[in-house]
Amino acid sequence: MSDFKYKGYCSKLLRVNLTSQTASEEPLNESDVERFIGGRGLGAKILFDEVKEGVEPLSPENKLIITTGPLTGTRVPTSTNRFVITTKSPLTGIYGFSVSGGAFGLELKKAGYDGLVIEGKANKPTYLQIEDGELHFRDAGWLWGIPVFEATRLLRETLGYDYRTIMIGPSGEKLVKIAGIISDDRRASARCGVGAVMGSKLLKAVAVKGSKEYTFADPAKFDEALKEAFKNIGIQPGPWKEFRQTGTQSGPIKNNAWGILPTANWRESVFDKAAEISYPLLRERFVVKDTGCNQCPIRCTKLTLVKDGPYAGAATDGPEYETIYAFGSACKIGDPRPIIAADMLCDDLGLDTMSTGLTIAWAMEALEKNAISKSELDGLNLRFGSDEGLLNAIKKMAYRDGALGKLLSDGVREAARKVGKGSESYAMHVKGLEIGGYDPRGSKGQGLVLAAGSRGGCHHAYGVASFVEIPQGTATSAKGKGLLVKGTLRVRVMIDSSPLCAFAASRVPPPLLARLISAATGMEMQLSDLERAADRIATLERAYNAREGVRREHDTLPDRLLKEAVPDGPNKGAVLTPEELELMKTELYEAMGWDTSTGIPKRSTLEALGLADVASDLARAGCL
Ligand code: SF4
Repeated sequence: MSDFKYKGYCSKLLRVNLTSQTASEEPLNESDVERFIGGRGLGAKILFDEVKEGVEPLSPENKLIITTGPLTGTRVPTSTNRFVITTKSPLTGIYGFSVSGGAFGLELKKAGYDGLVIEGKANKPTYLQIEDGELHFRDAGWLWGIPVFEATRLLRETLGYDYRTIMIGPSGEKLVKIAGIISDDRRASARCGVGAVMGSKLLKAVAVKGSKEYTFADPAKFDEALKEAFKNIGIQPGPWKEFRQTGTQSGPIKNNAWGILPTANWRESVFDKAAEISYPLLRERFVVKDTGCNQCPIRCTKLTLVKDGPYAGAATDGPEYETIYAFGSACKIGDPRPIIAADMLCDDLGLDTMSTGLTIAWAMEALEKNAISKSELDGLNLRFGSDEGLLNAIKKMAYRDGALGKLLSDGVREAARKVGKGSESYAMHVKGLEIGGYDPRGSKGQGLVLAAGSRGGCHHAYGVASFVEIPQGTATSAKGKGLLVKGTLRVRVMIDSSPLCAFAASRVPPPLLARLISAATGMEMQLSDLERAADRIATLERAYNAREGVRREHDTLPDRLLKEAVPDGPNKGAVLTPEELELMKTELYEAMGWDTSTGIPKRSTLEALGLADVASDLARAGCL
């Protein structure tokens, strides 16, 4: 019987060494969950402690850390299914994490583990089979090379459909740096190249099954808080009801109206075919079912099916907004059918749709500008609007096939570095991560989110400032955005560490989240404790990147966004000047207690957040 103080956790981690084919159970540290909660926070803590500066991301010394949290496995809407994968990213060389839904996290917890720490490298393709505290290293030679859907089917047919799996596709096996990890219910942990790290360990899949029951500290209080969450999500009219209808597929039309829909590799900010790749047309013509992550009542996912044309039969859970933007407006493809087919293909081959789409959009522009030739693309017609070019490029990228595969498979930063000729200025990434689809020239706080985010230029890690500043009417001003982003990042870190789906943030607000965690675990958690934990986690992420050499000057944006004015749409003529970006950065660093000249967390901040050990480590590494 565990003497772990808190309920809601399994109280142990499973550490797996693929080199020695050994595994051990480790007690979860009470102080770690008090300070870092779980999910993203716990993953960041383990990564900081165990993967030191200079570790090559695709070497056996890197680790793949899979964490659940105190709310995984409860009935809190959107939380039942969540888990987080943390690693040092091969795409960016810094802190990387990817959040996913699906049933895998829930099953891992039922098997008795709050997390898995996977280290070393197998000597042949391997998968892990975990059932209620028992682990087996299994030969995966028969699955290697097989795309995700078929490999998942074969594995579950062999083990039983009560096993839940995560799997890499051919792209992860080929160490493609924009490869993700896909769960059996086709949810993707897509970002930061986590699939390449799994491939570098010759780990094809993890299959897990468990039967343990979740235990609550105070079931009555938990039910009371849960009722409030369900009421918020419930049936009353309002934006949430609309979201259940639209999912994220209303994004293109909405962002187009706001003039922030990145189009033609971000050269333009409105797309004349936005309505065609957006709700409601998508719903009318392609959505066949509302679906969702395991046990989530919201069912915001839209199962789409192509019924006619060359892509007939293509079906996918989605595409979500970011995928539609990356393959649609960014590549100037205004027909949903190839977008659905591209989404499905990326899931099957194990690729990140955003990174893939933006790398291809860059190649389209580079070809147009004669920075690359058709022969460097194996003769593909990779022009804006070419759906055939798009689909063929994806296949080649996943397998590193031919000249195109060699050029594009490691993402847009690496492709532009190889080509040069000024193409770096329109390679749309920050710190190597291809960026999320909200043009910061029409939404300045979003520029800060993209520039300073802890995993590179993403729309997730620090929240979406556009959703706050545009309705507020402050989107064209840089002033005050440091504080605004401190607010959005805090909420996002809390959500990812509990963990919940980011879409729940507005309906499970932080005070309610604190009550749910308290009732589930028995940990005294007030709103202020949760905020402090979020500041601690964000500061730890910052410290990780500082140790890897990230400084203030690296918190920047692609030249295109800082030097070119918006050419069209409601924000025509708008710019985001370097001075405005610097002002916002200074505000954020001050608000977070990070040094304004270097961007490194101050010693006093680290100590006040209970991170004196992190301060000592930064001093050892010469950062403080
Ligand atoms: S809100 Fe949508 S994405 Fe989030 S857990 Fe529910 S179904 Fe999944």
